[in-house]
Amino acid sequence: MKFAGMRDQQLLRYNRQILLPQIDIIGQQKLLDSTVMIVGIGGLGSPVAMYLAAMGVGHLVLVDHDVVEISNLQRQIIYDTESLGQAKVIAAQKKLQTLNPEIRISPFQNQFESLNIEQMKAVDLLIDCSDNFTTRFAINAACVQNNIPLVSGAAIRLSGQIVVFINQKNTPCYRCLYPDSEQEAETCTENGVLAPLVGVIGSMQAIEAVKVLLSIGKPLYGKLLLFEAQSMQWRKINLSKDPACPVCSLPGQR
Ligand SMILES: [Zn+2]
Repeated sequence: MKFAGMRDQQLLRYNRQILLPQIDIIGQQKLLDSTVMIVGIGGLGSPVAMYLAAMGVGHLVLVDHDVVEISNLQRQIIYDTESLGQAKVIAAQKKLQTLNPEIRISPFQNQFESLNIEQMKAVDLLIDCSDNFTTRFAINAACVQNNIPLVSGAAIRLSGQIVVFINQKNTPCYRCLYPDSEQEAETCTENGVLAPLVGVIGSMQAIEAVKVLLSIGKPLYGKLLLFEAQSMQWRKINLSKDPACPVCSLPGQR
């Protein structure tokens, strides 16, 4: 059997999660065999990529067109001062390979919109850590089209949100949540963001990613979880499918 081949060093490296009955050796092997695409290696993408790499998700596909700027370092903890001016995906790749040399990293210094369909084929799960609606809508459409589960997160000022979408009948997609395609995202550049808040939301995205990959517990399918750091309150909202949604309700999409 394949998992019988896990080496002693791997058993040691992943021991504290193999001990979890929900993961065990079979789950660990599944993580090692998984491909996860992370779009946006910023405040959210940093903890997402670092946790998934540390946990041994076997193949991480990183997508980000930006270079590291000094104003990123306040919250984008995958980078350090030496990363300044480097392509984010390359600086992130270096950090992740140091963290875990056993996994594969594929960096794409592109906008998500310019990836081709072939690059989506082997992806088991996509994690949206982007910061604008054009990219989020493009990610959502690609996930619906290719039947890829999507873990979406966002954070601004002292508020954050997480939601998971899976392409099932009668469940909403990201576009059902935001029917107006002309949405302008508020940006951290203009509004600011509390650094550990993106750590909280990114870590929750990593938790949901593992749950989806290993079919553990109840992921936030079609449920929007909202967090207010100011009052430390969490709120969960059930989303409903928009029968007029141009992405998931068009004939032929289901
Ligand atoms: Zn929809």
